[in-house]
Amino acid sequence: MNARSLACLVAGLVAASFTSRGRASIVLDLAVPEYEACGQVSINGYVAASPGAIQRLVWVWGDGMTNESWFPATHTFPTNGDYTVQVTAFADTGESKTATRSVVITSVCNQSTNIVLNLAAPEYEACGQVSINGYVKASPGDVQRLVWAWGDGTTNESWFPAKHVYPSNGVFAVTVTAHSDLGETRTATQQVSVATITLSCDNTLRVYPPRVVLKDGKTNETLRVDLRGKNGLPIPVTLAQTTFVSSRPNLVQVDAQGRVTGKGLGEAQIEVRVQGQPRTVIVPVSVGEILLEPTILLLNTNPPSTGQVFLRAFNADGSAVNLSGRQVQFSGGNAVASVNAQGVVTPLRPPAQFWDSPYLNATLDGMPARNACFVRVTATNLNLTMQDYAGENVTFRVATQVGPYPFGALMNDLQVVKVFDAVCRLQQRLCGATPNQGGRQFFALDPGMDAGGTVPCGLSGNPVRLGVVVDNLGSCFGGEDWLHWGVIGHELAHDFLSHASFADFCAGLANSGAYSEGLATTLSAYSFDEITAAPERFGIAPATLANFHGIFLMPDSIRTGHYEALTNYEANPDYAGRFNADLLDAIMLKLGDDYGPAFLFRFMSVFYPPDELFMSYQDETQRLTFWVAACSAAARTDLRARFRDRWGFPVDDAYFERILPQVQQRASQRDPVITASHVGSDAFHLCAHAVRDTTYLIQSSPDLSTWITVQTNTPSSFTLEADLPLPSGFGQQFYRVLQWR
Ligand SMILES: [Zn+2]
Repeated sequence: MNARSLACLVAGLVAASFTSRGRASIVLDLAVPEYEACGQVSINGYVAASPGAIQRLVWVWGDGMTNESWFPATHTFPTNGDYTVQVTAFADTGESKTATRSVVITSVCNQSTNIVLNLAAPEYEACGQVSINGYVKASPGDVQRLVWAWGDGTTNESWFPAKHVYPSNGVFAVTVTAHSDLGETRTATQQVSVATITLSCDNTLRVYPPRVVLKDGKTNETLRVDLRGKNGLPIPVTLAQTTFVSSRPNLVQVDAQGRVTGKGLGEAQIEVRVQGQPRTVIVPVSVGEILLEPTILLLNTNPPSTGQVFLRAFNADGSAVNLSGRQVQFSGGNAVASVNAQGVVTPLRPPAQFWDSPYLNATLDGMPARNACFVRVTATNLNLTMQDYAGENVTFRVATQVGPYPFGALMNDLQVVKVFDAVCRLQQRLCGATPNQGGRQFFALDPGMDAGGTVPCGLSGNPVRLGVVVDNLGSCFGGEDWLHWGVIGHELAHDFLSHASFADFCAGLANSGAYSEGLATTLSAYSFDEITAAPERFGIAPATLANFHGIFLMPDSIRTGHYEALTNYEANPDYAGRFNADLLDAIMLKLGDDYGPAFLFRFMSVFYPPDELFMSYQDETQRLTFWVAACSAAARTDLRARFRDRWGFPVDDAYFERILPQVQQRASQRDPVITASHVGSDAFHLCAHAVRDTTYLIQSSPDLSTWITVQTNTPSSFTLEADLPLPSGFGQQFYRVLQWR
């Protein structure tokens, strides 16, 4: 028997009845309708087929609306009255069965005539996506929210245009309710017919890199298209099947081979289509760069001083953009400091509280600078000398000396810029995210008085702020001969995690900080593990590596302190009472120790691409179960028992099993796949899809059981290539490619 759904049916079941036609039968029971506010009704029930499986439930609501939905099905009636609801279950055996229920609606909310709510015809996009535009206005009053019930059991709030992805083809009744600040409501309904879900909707189409960044003299990039089936196996794609179209051909050009070029300044998109595939991929392209400097200004009110911010712009080919005749605008001033049209910044008063201090922004012909300038106003002059230390991806603006801290010397001696250039690259690879639209990442040492409210330690953003208290000396930047590597890496990781995919998971979690903070620490620690494992790859000297040891939030500190905390927690696991970020990063690092360095890469692949919402959750338990599923998929083993028994996680087994195939597909989507090999007389050429800057092991085996590593390979492009010898004589040899780091 193949049963579908049932959340809370106990009382009021219609007695089970069996219709027999031959040996097949369908059981379809409806529970008593549950009445919600404003004419909404929810009907639960039970359906099963034996033999066979139920394919769909079709609801005819009795008010002219029809849709498909599993239990519980919800519907909002437009007017009070008695209705007969009819539901029909269709089995894959071709059988069907119908049941009916009477509902009495008395709670329809007053359709306020003060609210106008009109819906446009739905627009259908590929693979079940529907977009509904419309018009809403309240008078008197203001519309505060639009609540959508999509007719498939999903509800959410969204302004126009509202978008939804349906899980199956069918007819759905959409209800939208506008709520005004006067407490009035108005409801409108719309029927949608989804027919865009095809078998190839199960395929994953990805394009690497997910964003093209052309700057600092780098004026081209080649896109690689990766198509995989539901089973994760690659589907060959030829260039003849692929089309690339630039949204702004005079700024960004793309040829039939996916080679992207751009020399100027601006933003464009490339649309990638593969013949026969319903989904398309949009690759944003950032060309050139606009910066606002300095990234922090220190100003004082006694005696009054003024500062100056500059906008600087560069074409992708590295040449400076001539700003004369172009429109530069500065904004962001407030009661603490103001900025004028020439970029002159005037301090007005020290901040009264933490969030008072302004971030200034700038635009060039309406295009925004990728970073802000933070303004720190103090009453007296701090007498600090600020200096920029710039690398490929990062710029640090640091006071050369604060009390006994020789930060300028440490910047040079400890290769700080080189280290964080590497951390940036590694986190970009791990997350597949490009914060600041590919713009340079700034770090600002943010000094202040205790009372003036500097950052207690670090704060993510662009710039990342790192606090130093100068009158009661404390620093989250570093000490006399060491740096707060872990804190800086953690704040940087927040920037790489500030995307929709991860935010959607965190939203609504009772303890979301454990995940956002814990995972930021994990990502940072992994980056330092990678640098430590292969320092020569990043040009990092032994003295720098030695400085990593024993520092807060660095890998060895976590493996002692946080591991010990986890051991203590395991003695008496209490998820609701005691779970926190330190335990989470300990768990993630420990799973990496157990399942290899590729664990976190595969885990973050579940959240790839960063702007895609891919999961829906009913409650906290499902969110936590998703995390367990993502870890299990990344580790290629079922970790439910470990999370439940040792770490006290609530796990919803049915949900786990339902989502696991999708989570596994996502975890493996960036795994290396050998796509071609060319045989010569005594050698062959191995070619595989790869992720840039990732280290792979090529291994060989005569019998698929014992493997030896024949090559370590770190491709600088999205293709891994190797020339390998053919086995002599008539022997056979197997090869595999493993992602190592
Ligand atoms: Zn944090």
